[in-house]
Amino acid sequence: MTPDDLAFDQRHIWHPYTSMTSPLPVYPVVRAEGCELFLASGERLVDGMSSWWAAIHGYNHPQLNAAMKSQIDAMSHVMFGGITHAPAVSLCRKLVAMTPAPLECVFLADSGSVAVEVAMKMALQYWQAKGEPRQRFLTFRHGYHGDTFGAMSVCDPDNSMHSLWQGYLQENLFAPAPQSRMDGEWDERDMVAFARLMAAHRHEIAAVIVEPIVQGAGGMRMYHPEWLRRIRKMCDREGILLIADEIATGFGRTGRLFACEHAGIAPDILCLGKALTGGTMTLSATLTTRDVADTISHGEAGCFMHGPTFMGNPLACAVASASLSLLESGEWQQQVAGIEAQLRAELSPVRACENVADVRVLGAIGVVETTRPVNMAALQQFFVAQGVWIRPFGKLIYLMPPYIIQPDQLRRLTQAVKDAVRNEAMFIA
Ligand SMILES: *Cc1c(COP(=O)(O)O)cnc(C)c1O
Repeated sequence: MTPDDLAFDQRHIWHPYTSMTSPLPVYPVVRAEGCELFLASGERLVDGMSSWWAAIHGYNHPQLNAAMKSQIDAMSHVMFGGITHAPAVSLCRKLVAMTPAPLECVFLADSGSVAVEVAMKMALQYWQAKGEPRQRFLTFRHGYHGDTFGAMSVCDPDNSMHSLWQGYLQENLFAPAPQSRMDGEWDERDMVAFARLMAAHRHEIAAVIVEPIVQGAGGMRMYHPEWLRRIRKMCDREGILLIADEIATGFGRTGRLFACEHAGIAPDILCLGKALTGGTMTLSATLTTRDVADTISHGEAGCFMHGPTFMGNPLACAVASASLSLLESGEWQQQVAGIEAQLRAELSPVRACENVADVRVLGAIGVVETTRPVNMAALQQFFVAQGVWIRPFGKLIYLMPPYIIQPDQLRRLTQAVKDAVRNEAMFIA
């Protein structure tokens, strides 16, 4: 990477949620191995982000690489209309086996946002087919479900700036975000507003959509499992579908294979993505029940109205299967439990710091919420200087490292977070 490459990047390439006119600097990465990113400058950074929840087994993993290399020589891609192949069948077998029993029909798509679009479309077609069209979704504030329009319509209205899309975006129903914490007592009053909304709109609501237990990009909040048991009961009573968006929480991140397991419930529709391929390629899956699939298929259209070009991409399916095989060994359970214990021990002390509003830990997720917004530019530079890769946003500094991280590497991450929140220069004045 020459200075000229960086200048080109700055001038011509969009980065996620980044200004084209005054972007923060980007760091050229040339290689990634295990839990480390190697910068072009020669520095090595311990990765605290798993590339946004995805790289659970670390980078450059020999088994994941082998799966992709051998699949490339057979075929990288072939259309899925009228064709099937072993990588898709083997992956879907695994997904059906590892998810809760009622989920048995799998739709493969390209990204998390599309998995959410697919889930919402399934719910709409389900009600259409029943001859009782319903067009609204009920969800929590502070949710995040993706950046496409359907997904955005159930994201937190303030965070995702619904004001920008007024008149274009579907108007859905937002209950206050859960207040009963994962690590606290269940408070019956928490349910009141949600129950009222559902009662008032019971004949309009196609589905409830939530991120189980952990609300990710919408605020890194962790809520009480009783919430999910209550929502499941209310949905059952009204015949309303429940969509669990486990794109961030799936595949062990919260200490259970799926976050729904903390509450012992199964959704009617489940969205998976991010860690599905172990962070190597883009792929998502939306699973549903036989009843939902049959109802849709008996409807006016006679089929589910979706079919992406790269549906069931063999290369992505092959590496996803390999990633699930690594999970099947069960080693992730000790790894995630170890990370959780260390995050608790090492992050808890910063609760006493006056810049810190809250510390939350669950599974391999550690969150430090600050009292003031952080200075992204200063903090990013600070973390790189400490030899760690951590990307905070707003008032949230959080860690979700690869499961294979070693205790000394994790200590470098937590130490960097501790040093950052005690440093006044890391906050917006
Ligand atoms: C990241 C995420 C999405 C969107 O996935 P993309 O692959 O970025 O489109 C949807 N829901 C949740 C809970 C997520 O964390």
